[in-house]
Amino acid sequence: MTLDEARARDAADPLRHFRERFVLPEGVIYLDGNSLGPLPKATIAAMAHITEHQWGTRMVRAWNEGWMDAPQRIGGKIARLIGAEANEVIVTDSTSSNLFKLLVAALQQNPARRTILTEAGNFPSDLYVAQGAVRCVAGARLHCVARGELLAALSNDTAVLLLTHVHYKTAEAFDITSYSSAARQAGALTLWDLSHSTGAVPVDLGAAGADLAVGCGYKYLNGGPGAPAYLYVNKRWQNSLISPLNGWLSHAEPFAFVDGYRPAAGINRWLNGSPPMLAMTALESGVDLALEADIAALAEKSAALFACFADIGAALGLECVSPNDAARRGSHISFRHEAAYALSQALIARGVIGDFRAPDIIRFGLTPLYIGFQDVALAGEILREVVASGAWRDPQYSVRAAVT
Ligand SMILES: *Cc1c(COP(=O)(O)O)cnc(C)c1O
Repeated sequence: MTLDEARARDAADPLRHFRERFVLPEGVIYLDGNSLGPLPKATIAAMAHITEHQWGTRMVRAWNEGWMDAPQRIGGKIARLIGAEANEVIVTDSTSSNLFKLLVAALQQNPARRTILTEAGNFPSDLYVAQGAVRCVAGARLHCVARGELLAALSNDTAVLLLTHVHYKTAEAFDITSYSSAARQAGALTLWDLSHSTGAVPVDLGAAGADLAVGCGYKYLNGGPGAPAYLYVNKRWQNSLISPLNGWLSHAEPFAFVDGYRPAAGINRWLNGSPPMLAMTALESGVDLALEADIAALAEKSAALFACFADIGAALGLECVSPNDAARRGSHISFRHEAAYALSQALIARGVIGDFRAPDIIRFGLTPLYIGFQDVALAGEILREVVASGAWRDPQYSVRAAVT
C-alpha cells in the first residue's frame, strides 16, 4: 500500500470523521489504544462540567441528579455493545475486582464443584485473581491448561470456565458460543473477560449463551486511565449468585441503614461502595462515543487495517503470531521478535507507539475508530527503516524502564 493509496482509503472510510473527536497529538502514531485509549475531546468538557457544575455547585444534591444511578445507566449503555440486556450489566470496581467477585460467587453457588478452569497464559491479573479466589473457598482449586486442551479438561468438578475472549498477546479470539455451550453441557458456568473486545469486535453474550462476563473501561472504550470496569450477569443467574464483597450499595435497601445484610435483587448486588463519579463521567463520555459507531463497520475496518499491517510485517520477514482469519482474532496485531523490547523502544523514539509484552512480543493496536490507513502506512515505513537499518540494536533501547 503506497501513501497515496492509504490516503484514498482514508477518504473512503465511513468511520473517518471519528478521528476528529479525539485528542491525537502531532508527531505520534498511536497504536496502543488497546492498552490506554486516547482522550475523547468531549471528555474534557464533561470533566469540566462535573467538577464546576455538579461537584462545585450542586454538591451533595448531585447524588440524586444522575450520580447514584450512574453504574446502572452506563452499564445499560455498555450492554448494547456486548449483546446484553440493560439490567444485566453494571459499572463498578476494576476488572480484577469484578473477576474476584464472580469467581468466588461461582464457586460458592455449587459446592459440589470445586475447580476454576482457565487457559495457561491467560492475562496475568486473571490468573492471580483466580489464585486468590481459590484460597478463599474451601477445597477450591485452579486448573490451567493449554488452549487446545480446555474442552477436554471440563469435568463434573468444573464450577466455572474462565476465559479471556481476545488474548492480550496474540489477539486470538475464542468462539464464545461453542465454549459456553460446551461448558454448559459439562454443568459449568462460563466467565468471559472482554477487556480486549468491547468496542472493537462484535460480541453477543445473550445469543452466545454466556453466563458471566467482565471487562475494562480504558482500552477500546476510551474511558480514561484506570476507568471503572463493568460486570455482566445473565438474568438466569442473578438471584442465585451472591457477591462476596457486600457493601451498602449492594443492599436491598441501602438507605434503610439496618445492621443486617440483605442482597439487592438483580444486578445491583454486585456494587459495593460509592461510585467514583469523576472517573464514571469520563467513562460515560467514552462509551457514548463508542455507541455512535456501527460495530460491523468497526470490525470490517479493523480487518482491513490488520491486512495492511500484516503485509508490511511479512515483507520484513517478521513472525506474526496473530491469526490470519479475522473472525478468530481481536483488533491488534502482534509479532514475535528476539529483541521485541528494543524494537518497541526504537519505534517509540520515532513516534510510533505500540507496546512490548514479555518476553518477545511487540504489539500494535489497530483501533478502527480513530486509526487510519495512512497511520498504518507511515508506521510501516518507520518499522521498515528501523528493522532494515538494525537501529533497534542501539544499546539505549535495551535499557528497561521500571514501568513499560
Ligand atoms: C486490561 C485487562 C485487564 C485489566 O484489569 P485491571 O483490573 O483494570 O487492571 C484484565 N484482564 C484482561 C484480559 C485485560 O486485558
